[in-house]
Amino acid sequence: MLEAWDNRRQKNLPVEAYVATYGPKSDSRYRPGFRPKLRCLICSGTLHTFHEGTPAARWVHDPNPARKCPAKSPSRILQGLPSPVAPNLDGGTVLRTAFFRNWGRHWSRARRLCQNAKIESFVAFVAEADATGMWGRVGVREGFIPYLFLASRDFPPLGCRVMRSAQAWQRFAFDWRIQSLADLDSCNDGAPQFVRMTFRAPVRGEPKFDGLVRQEPIALNTTYVFLPALDLAESDVMAMEEAFPRELGVACVMA
Ligand SMILES: [Zn+2]
Repeated sequence: MLEAWDNRRQKNLPVEAYVATYGPKSDSRYRPGFRPKLRCLICSGTLHTFHEGTPAARWVHDPNPARKCPAKSPSRILQGLPSPVAPNLDGGTVLRTAFFRNWGRHWSRARRLCQNAKIESFVAFVAEADATGMWGRVGVREGFIPYLFLASRDFPPLGCRVMRSAQAWQRFAFDWRIQSLADLDSCNDGAPQFVRMTFRAPVRGEPKFDGLVRQEPIALNTTYVFLPALDLAESDVMAMEEAFPRELGVACVMA
């Protein structure tokens, strides 16, 4: 990972900036171990610098056999939708209805956090939510929908193959405190965190941990539900109406 999040300064630091801020690894003025430890936002494991002082400098996890970081296992992050637990009594009907009333707000929130998100993947997420009964699961609240969408998919660059290498690959995950949908039930705005990961887009295949540029904390803010949606693209509205005509009130009524 090229940059690590410094909670004191509320910003990401490349190794070079960390050294400039807190001093080199061993120095007469800075005792070894004096520098503050930065942590991985997803597993909360401590990090150390690697190849410090060289162009290849980066951040790696301190060894911890007891905990494997989900950021190192893309396939596990792709399974980011936490495991389901007992369903709500109404089977999620109320939540599903509320979702379709406000879908533009949810889509706007997701787009604001992920420039690579496409309406097709949002449509697929909603269909998947129907198939898996996500709406009825304990812990799933309307304000969490954009985050569940983002955590459950991968977001490669939108450009063509030639453009891809210049663009970022985005991936999202809940932090270590969210192990199941039920954990979402007990969290309040601001804690725990949602994390956006930015990878260098690989020439082919999926990005690896080595290609991780940075992690950024994103508060699980649910107040956007009360704000106006961003201007929705006509093509996005059409895609949703085509996929869910009955729910969005555009189904043709046969005479
Ligand atoms: Zn980690």
